Order: sequence, then C-alpha cells, then structure tokens
Amino acid sequence: MAKPRRHYQPCPDCGFPMLRMDGKLQCASRYLDRCLGKKRIAEVRQEGECVYLVFEDGHQLPLLCGCCGEPLEFKGVEALERRYKNRRLLSFSDAREGTSYDDVWPVVVLTFSGVGELPGIAWESAARIHHPPDCPARRRKRAKSAAGARTRKRRKRRR
Ligand SMILES: [Zn+2]
Ligand SMILES: [Zn+2]
Repeated sequence: MAKPRRHYQPCPDCGFPMLRMDGKLQCASRYLDRCLGKKRIAEVRQEGECVYLVFEDGHQLPLLCGCCGEPLEFKGVEALERRYKNRRLLSFSDAREGTSYDDVWPVVVLTFSGVGELPGIAWESAARIHHPPDCPARRRKRAKSAAGARTRKRRKRRR
C-alpha cells in the first residue's frame, strides 16, 4: 500500500486519528462523537466557499476536502439539504480515498440515518467545528484562558 498524503498519529485507545484541536492533541473520533454524535442536521449552509452541516444544537461542521483540506465544492447546497436535513449522525469511519492506488489520503465518512454515507471529508473538518456557546469543548477553552490570565497577573505581581 502506498503511503497516504497525510499521516495522523493514531489514538492509543481506538486507532482513529489524533488531531490538534482546541490547542491540544486529541482523538478526533471521541471529539466528533461528543459534539455531533446522534444529533440531527437542522440546516445545510454555505458561507463563502465553505458548506457547513448545521446540527440541531448549533454545532457547525465544515465540509473540507480530504486531499487538500480546502472546502469541498457542491453543485447544489439545496439538494444536499433536502437529502440530509433531519437526518441523525449515526456513526463515522476512518477511510481512504484517492485518485489511484499510489495516491491516497485519509478521510472520515459520516453515516446518517435513512440516507447512509456522506462523501468522505477531511479529518481537519473536526478541528474546524464551530461550537455553540454551551458546548463543553468551548467551556473548557474559556476556563483555560481565564486560568492563563490569572497566572499572568500573578507573575506580574511578583516582579
Ligand atoms: Zn480514540
Ligand atoms: Zn462542541
């Protein structure tokens, strides 16, 4: 098997790729499951070049190309919405796509209730999720930066 264009360190627990998310290396599978697992798509929205799956709780997943990481192009966002609206994210898998046997890249394939698989997207899509304000991923980030601010203040006082 040829070497894929991208390589991710596998998660020691489940073997899915590890990505830098919210400033630290995390298992993309656990991250996706926590933020999007079993949730329904409320809307498919295009913003600039990028198409987002908008989930019922406000999470937005950008659809990025597995080979280059750029936004995937879709001919009709309306058709995509008709097909995937109200569908629930059931599972996802680690797959390979490519132009030939020698040129492959890893993608994540999302499976939705009733309609099956969405075309494979880049794992980086997980790292670029927009989280709603009440998401634990965002709360942790905020708590961390608040702690950082406190440390900085303390250091200043010592000087
Ligand atoms: Zn894992
Ligand atoms: Zn989230």
